[in-house]
Amino acid sequence: MTTTASIELTLKDISATGSDDEMCSTDLIDAPWDVDIRPGYGPGASMDDPIPQAAPRQGEIPAEYRDSSAEELNERIIRAKAELGDRVVILGHHYQRVEVVEHADYIGDSFMLAKAAQNHPEAEAIVFCGVHFMAETADLLSTPDQSVILPNLAAGCSMADMADIDQVEDCWEQLTDLLGSEPDAEGKVPVIPVTYMNSSAAIKGFCGRNGGIVCTSSNAEVVLEWAFERGQRVLFFPDQHLGRNTALNMGIDLEAMPLWNPARPLGNNSPDTVEDSKVILWQGFCSVHKRFTPAQIDKARIDHPDVRVIVHPECPQETVAAADESGSTAYITKAIAEATEPTTFAIGTEINLVQRLAAEHPEHTIFCLDPVVCPCSTMYRIHPGYIAWVLESLLESTVINQITVDAEVADPARVSLERMLAAKPRV
Ligand code: SF4
Repeated sequence: MTTTASIELTLKDISATGSDDEMCSTDLIDAPWDVDIRPGYGPGASMDDPIPQAAPRQGEIPAEYRDSSAEELNERIIRAKAELGDRVVILGHHYQRVEVVEHADYIGDSFMLAKAAQNHPEAEAIVFCGVHFMAETADLLSTPDQSVILPNLAAGCSMADMADIDQVEDCWEQLTDLLGSEPDAEGKVPVIPVTYMNSSAAIKGFCGRNGGIVCTSSNAEVVLEWAFERGQRVLFFPDQHLGRNTALNMGIDLEAMPLWNPARPLGNNSPDTVEDSKVILWQGFCSVHKRFTPAQIDKARIDHPDVRVIVHPECPQETVAAADESGSTAYITKAIAEATEPTTFAIGTEINLVQRLAAEHPEHTIFCLDPVVCPCSTMYRIHPGYIAWVLESLLESTVINQITVDAEVADPARVSLERMLAAKPRV
């Protein structure tokens, strides 16, 4: 097992030793700008997911960035950032490679980073080293005269793309036809839509327009409680696993959680199944977290009898059930930081975060449950070359790759985010 902090160096190690079976695609060695011209999400965990035709593509970036060495790019970023000063804030998601997050003013999950952006109204530009829906959320929470920049437009999210707004509207129409929209005797409407933060602004706007709310992996249970105070059932998208794991924790029966396949009438369910449901789960998933299995946990326990296994709630239910704990990236980070005795941790989340935690905590043994190096395809598309490009362009007053949410979507999307911020745990 490698202990190299940088995913890029890890890949070089693997390619040098010739053990290709230790990574999910040999194309991971390729430069990201070479990947930009190919169809699909790119090498990594989402490489086999179908990509929507309308998914943004990244055009070619200037040769001076493609041809620069890692050291030159690093120096150019440091120089440009210093010259820009307070004019720019750089945000780095936990799943970004070390060469990216070392330039970030803030490192965290998507919502924490959007809130960080909100605290810097003086910055004219927010460079979001993450994926598309995160940049959209930062745009929703930033001021109208700030620009949110996604360094590589091809950094989407295959899970967010699994809930298309037209399919969601169609689903809502079918549910309304079957269940009506009038509240029952307790004042509860038939369905409350709940979307995970990992969704497009259009889906957040849909929730805002229809009495719904956003959740994160840290507050999903509180948000579902909020929803059940107002509705008889929940329509949860896009991640079936977060929805199922959270609802199971709340004591909801698996049989009351039908899966909604958007390609089939009534989501491939009978009217009775939908009427008897408590949580209707959209058929989406994260290809990164889907890779973690109970068999990997069994092996970790054999190899390390004292191992503490923590997985993300985007993992399948059987994996969460086999783990010792499950929790968001914030939970995982905190659990490791708070361990007072040297501990062996097997972690089920994206490899860049796991490798960084291992480097930051030499007092512990920390490894990724999945032995195959397979980063998130789209997070991996952010590379220092793109960051140098967007920062040096800002020095010339040119904003590249700006992400903007239209007002007609942004206003209701903010409503659904504000409902989440106001939702409080029951006392
Ligand atoms: S880790 Fe999963 S949910 Fe996060 S950006 Fe990648 S595909 Fe999307």
